[in-house]
Amino acid sequence: MTDAPPLDRSPERTPATLLATPYRTHTCGALRAGDAGITARLAGWVHRRRDHGQLIFLDLRDRHGITQVVIDKADDPEAHATASRVRSEFVVCVEGDVARRLDGTENPRLPTGAIELRGHDVRILSESKTPPFYINEPDATIDESLRLRYRYLDIRREAMAGRLLLRSRLVQAIREVHHAHGFVEVETPNLIKSTPEGARDFVVPSRLQPGSVYALPQSPQQLKQLLMVAGVDRYFQIARCFRDEDLRGDRQPEFTQLDLEMSFVDEGAVMAFVETMVIEVCRAATPDRPIAVEPFPRFTYDEAMERFGSDKPDLRFGMELVDLGPLWADAPSGFRVFDDALASGGRVKAIVVPGKGGATRKEIDELTERAKRFGAKGLVWLAVDDVGAVRSSIGKFLGDDGVERLVARAGANPGDLVLVVADEPGVTADVLGRLRVELGVRIGLVRDPEVLSFCWVHRFPMYQWDAEGGRWDATHNPFSGVLPDDEELLTTTSGDLSKPDPGDPAGRARALQYDIVLNGWELGGGSIRIHRRDLLARSFALQGQSEAGMKEKFGALLEAFEYGPPPHGGIALGIDRWAALLAHQSNIREVMAFPKTQSGADLMLEAPSPPDPAQYAELGLRFVGVPGRATPAPSEG
Ligand code: ASP
Repeated sequence: MTDAPPLDRSPERTPATLLATPYRTHTCGALRAGDAGITARLAGWVHRRRDHGQLIFLDLRDRHGITQVVIDKADDPEAHATASRVRSEFVVCVEGDVARRLDGTENPRLPTGAIELRGHDVRILSESKTPPFYINEPDATIDESLRLRYRYLDIRREAMAGRLLLRSRLVQAIREVHHAHGFVEVETPNLIKSTPEGARDFVVPSRLQPGSVYALPQSPQQLKQLLMVAGVDRYFQIARCFRDEDLRGDRQPEFTQLDLEMSFVDEGAVMAFVETMVIEVCRAATPDRPIAVEPFPRFTYDEAMERFGSDKPDLRFGMELVDLGPLWADAPSGFRVFDDALASGGRVKAIVVPGKGGATRKEIDELTERAKRFGAKGLVWLAVDDVGAVRSSIGKFLGDDGVERLVARAGANPGDLVLVVADEPGVTADVLGRLRVELGVRIGLVRDPEVLSFCWVHRFPMYQWDAEGGRWDATHNPFSGVLPDDEELLTTTSGDLSKPDPGDPAGRARALQYDIVLNGWELGGGSIRIHRRDLLARSFALQGQSEAGMKEKFGALLEAFEYGPPPHGGIALGIDRWAALLAHQSNIREVMAFPKTQSGADLMLEAPSPPDPAQYAELGLRFVGVPGRATPAPSEG
C-alpha cells in the first residue's frame, strides 16, 4: 500500500549555513577537525567554565551541541578579563580561530571534540542568576515541581531538549506520511459545543452571548465526521483535546491526538493505512528501534482478554493466561474456592512465572497482597522446585494427582511458580493480566528494551450495561458501527428499545472498533461509524437517548447525515503517549513542553488563577462557591 516517497530520516536536516546569523557563523555543534584554521563566531550559554589562571575554558552550549572555547590571557587580555566575569548560564558571543586540540586532549564524547575555538573577542549578551538546579548535570535528580516551575531551564537540559526534538520529528513524520497518502490537514475550532468522549467538558463563558458557554473539544469527533460529509475524503489533524477529569496517573487536562478520518473505508482499510503510517513514522522518528512483528498481530477483544487478561496486551513476552477449568469439567477439584467459582460461572486461570519456583514466603505474601489490591479475593500458588517437587497451599485439597495435573496443564517446568486466581471472569482476567505485566517486566522478560511491539485489538463489545442509568452505554463513541453479523442484536428482549435490560441481545453485539497497542499501552482507538440514519437512531435509543436528546447533543451531525454521508471511519492516537514510549518514558509529562501537575496547575504561569473582577462583570458572572468544597472565593465583579 505504500507507494509514497521515502522520508528523509536524518535527525538534523537543517544545513549549517541556514543557521548562521549576525551572532554566529556556526552553531555550537557544528565545527569539526576539517574546520581548523577558519575564523568562527559562536553564541550560546556557558555550560561550564574552568579558570586555569592564564587560560579560561568555556564550554559553550546551544541546542545543537557544545564547543570548547579557550581564552589565553597572553593572546587577548581584554577577552580574558571578560571571560573571567562570566558564570554558568550567561549568554555570550565569542569570535576566534578554530584549532585542532592538542594530541591527547580531544574529547571523543563530543562531536566537536577534535577542535576548540581560540577566542579573541568575548561579548556578554546577557547574565544569569545561579539556576535553581544544575543544567549541566544530566544525572542530577531534581524535584519535578522545581523542574515545572522553571521549565525553561529544565528544557535547556540535554535530556528534555532531546525529547522535545524527538517529539518534533515524530510530528513532522506524521505530517509527511499523511500528505503522502492523500490526507488533508484541517484545523477544527477549540470553541465548540460539547462533543462527548465520556469526560467532563471545560467550559468557556461567552461575552457576546451572556449566559451561554462554549465547550472545549474533548476531541474533534463530530467535526471530523462532518468533514467526511463535506467530501474532504481523508482528514488528519494534530489536535489538542481537553478533558476535565480527575488527573490520576499521568493524565493531562489538555493533550494532543493525531486525529484522522477516512471516507469509503471499512475496518480493514483504516487498520491497513494506520499500520503503514505508524511503521513509517516510527522508522523516521526512531530509526534504531526495531519493530517486533509486521504485520501487527490482531486479536479480538475476547481473545486478548482470554490470553492476556487485558485489552492492551504487552506482547514483548509470553506468560499467557492458562484456563484451568477443563481440569474439573467432570469432577470437582476438591478445593472449595475453585469449585464455587466454576459453579457460579466464574473462571479459574493461571500464569506461570518462569524461574520463580524458589520464591520466598514473603515474596508470595507480597504477590497475594498485590492480587487483592487488584480486586482478587486471594491468590493460590504452586512452586515447582528444580527437581519437580511442588510446594503449595492447596496440596491438601487437590491431592498429589490433582496438583500434578494442574502443574502439567499450566505448562510449568521445574523451577517455575504457578499463580492461580479463581473469581468472576472479569476479575480473574484483570488480576492475572496485571500480575503478568508487572512480573514480566520485573523479572526481565522484556529482553530488548528497544523493541516496539505493536498489536491491534478489535471487535470490542458495542455496549456495556450501566446499572445506575438502566441503559446500554457505548463502550467507545456513540457513533461506532456494529459488525454486520451482529446488526440484528441491536435490540432488547422486550422488543421495546426504551425498555433495556442487562440480558438484552444488545449486550452481545460487537462493535467495528479497534485499538492500537504499543508495548502494553493503548496508543489509540477508533471505529467505523454508523452512517445510516435508521441504525444510528436504533443505537442511540439503546443508549437511552430520546430523539429530542439526540438532536440536542448531535443536531448538526444528524442533520448532516440527511445530506448524503459517505461510509467513513477513523481513529485517534495519543501523541504524548507515542512520544513518551519512543523516548523510553513512562510519564507523558516528560515529552510535554509545559505540562500541568496532578492538580491541574501550571506551576510556572501560576494557572489557574482567580479572574480579574472586571472579567466577571463583563461576563455577567458571580462566584458563589462550590457546595462542599472549601474554595477561597475570588474577588467578585
Ligand atoms: N474521538 C475518539 C477518541 O478521542 C477517537 C475516534 O474514534 O476517532 O477517542
